[in-house]
Amino acid sequence: MTARTGSISVNTTDIFPIIKKWLYSEHDIFIRELVSNACDAITKRHTLARTSNQETPEGKVEVLIDKEAKTITFKDNGLGMNEEEIEKYIAQLAFSGAEEFVQKMKESGDEKNDIIGKFGLGFYSAFMVAEKVEVESLSMNEGAKPARWICEGDTEYSFEDSDKSEVGTEITLYINDESAEFLDSWKTRETLGRYCDFMPYSIYLKDLNEIARVTAENAKAEKEEDKKPIPDNDIINDSEPLWKKDPASLKDEDYKNFYRKLFPMDPEPLFWLHLNVDHPFTLQGILYFPKLNPNKPVNDGNIKLYSKQVFVSDNVKDVIPEFLGLLKGAIDSTDIPLNVSRSALQGDPNIKKISNYIVKKVSESLKKLYKNERERYENAWEDIGLFVKYGVVSDPKFDELMRDKVLFKNSDKKYVTLGEYSEQVPEKYTEKMKGKVIYFEEGVSDSNLRTQLLEEGIHAISTDSYIDPHFMQHTEMKKQGETETKYQLVDNAIEEILESAEASADDMKVKDLFTGFLVGEKDEKNPAQMEIEVKNFKNSKTAAYFKIDEQMKRFANMTRQMGNAGFDMPSKKTLVVNPSHILVQNTMKLSEGKKDLADKMAHYIHDLAAISGEGLDDQQRKDFVIRSQDLMSELSNLAI
Ligand code: ADP
Ligand code: MG
Repeated sequence: MTARTGSISVNTTDIFPIIKKWLYSEHDIFIRELVSNACDAITKRHTLARTSNQETPEGKVEVLIDKEAKTITFKDNGLGMNEEEIEKYIAQLAFSGAEEFVQKMKESGDEKNDIIGKFGLGFYSAFMVAEKVEVESLSMNEGAKPARWICEGDTEYSFEDSDKSEVGTEITLYINDESAEFLDSWKTRETLGRYCDFMPYSIYLKDLNEIARVTAENAKAEKEEDKKPIPDNDIINDSEPLWKKDPASLKDEDYKNFYRKLFPMDPEPLFWLHLNVDHPFTLQGILYFPKLNPNKPVNDGNIKLYSKQVFVSDNVKDVIPEFLGLLKGAIDSTDIPLNVSRSALQGDPNIKKISNYIVKKVSESLKKLYKNERERYENAWEDIGLFVKYGVVSDPKFDELMRDKVLFKNSDKKYVTLGEYSEQVPEKYTEKMKGKVIYFEEGVSDSNLRTQLLEEGIHAISTDSYIDPHFMQHTEMKKQGETETKYQLVDNAIEEILESAEASADDMKVKDLFTGFLVGEKDEKNPAQMEIEVKNFKNSKTAAYFKIDEQMKRFANMTRQMGNAGFDMPSKKTLVVNPSHILVQNTMKLSEGKKDLADKMAHYIHDLAAISGEGLDDQQRKDFVIRSQDLMSELSNLAI
């Protein structure tokens, strides 16, 4: 046996302990590094063979687990290395790369975890889990001698003879006790699934103990049909992911199947977008518009990032605008620099270009759907609306392209854009309604008022209290072209739309009556916040309604979402009473002789206004029922 030894020249003598300790949290990354090296070696062999017209076997990577021997071997049929090459690439170059990596890790402090995923430690990541590593290799070059390199996790290494006869490399890791979990094939399978699912050559996972066991059993079997298949043909990856394929050759079912593979627990996606460019940067991928799951908060990890089919990260925050994180899928680009820190990534011109491209493509696909398949667009709106509005608010480019395609439900429950909303305004009101959009907050605004407006031919769009306050604020502040938009709550708008009579001297009496019962209510939640206003609406069916201070309401909505749940701002409410309504008129007449009954009526009118607006809480509902019974009894007594 000829043995030769060498040593790695280092500046950081404690490099091995650092590799082991610092990277402990993500030490499964060694699998990604070794398998991707194997794939690189196969690609290199194919490229070299092509230039010299040599035949090459189909690329193949095997991951062999031997739990008894406590080893994992990564075997490839790539270009291989001779002794000098191992010395040069593994012992010197790879090591200095690792050294630089460790240096970066030391400097990066808190950003540590972020870097690990994006910055390959390379070959030396093997030492995160192994106490000893052997590299055995035969180069593809004619007449090459096989070589074996052994390193026991320190700077000394040795070479031994090898009798390897197949071209390629086998890297054997002698797994340390803390990392024994990787000797269970399910654990390694899971990790391979995470990092290597779409690597470009077939990856086989073989449990050598299991294979030996089945082989031995088969040898004992008396009949041929008792023999079990040898579990040695288990390909774990899809070496040709859908995004690499020509979109023209793909059917809807292909996209749906691929989605199922990426997100097995999800319902079917709504639609998708196949990205494919090679100039001025390379980018391929598929982005899906998922069905919104209201019970599940939107989380990270929806878009998986690959570099040449190697999984890099599912944290794409720095690569694409945040709102696109509501989409799901995979993107693959060689132009995303993976070896730099987050701050550098943000300033990278390629990243900016890629991000702009994705925004453009996503909005183009939505625009197309809007234009050509409006019905489908509307059907999807419930799921994509949040995404589109969020995009408009947060990304100027997206805003420019998509704002006029944002939909709202009008009073007939039909979807309209803001442009269509304005077009629906009857001519009689065009002047009054110029640039104005009346909105109705579900569960808060008075629905009778909406009906009254609709009788005038004016709609109110329904809004939520989550994204819509942001959307409204954004579109009010940043006008597009000449159009200025102003949103107004239905209860504020009504005064300007409906015809009202002149205020009269009797208004004061009405106000007094209604203020009267409030005295008793003063110590309820926000007595000081309640005001009474008298407005004569001639043809109105509404006796009274609540008007909410709009700016305060919007502000409260927005602060609530910014996580200030405890900060529940009292919103100022005004009870607007309409003396033109018969119920109010009768109440006023009663107040002449039967003040007590008139007070009860006034209170009742107030309750009705509350019911058609925000509604009542438990206690208020109980009180209302008691008060109603009391009032009805009194009224029926009068009638009997
Ligand atoms: P990188 O992959 O970024 O070059 P690594 O530390 O992962 O860095 O690997 C260092 C070098 O070792 C590779 O560039 C390659 O030359 C060589 N190498 C590693 N694994 C293999 C392999 N399986 N077959 C052939 N060469 C390999
Ligand atoms: Mg590598």
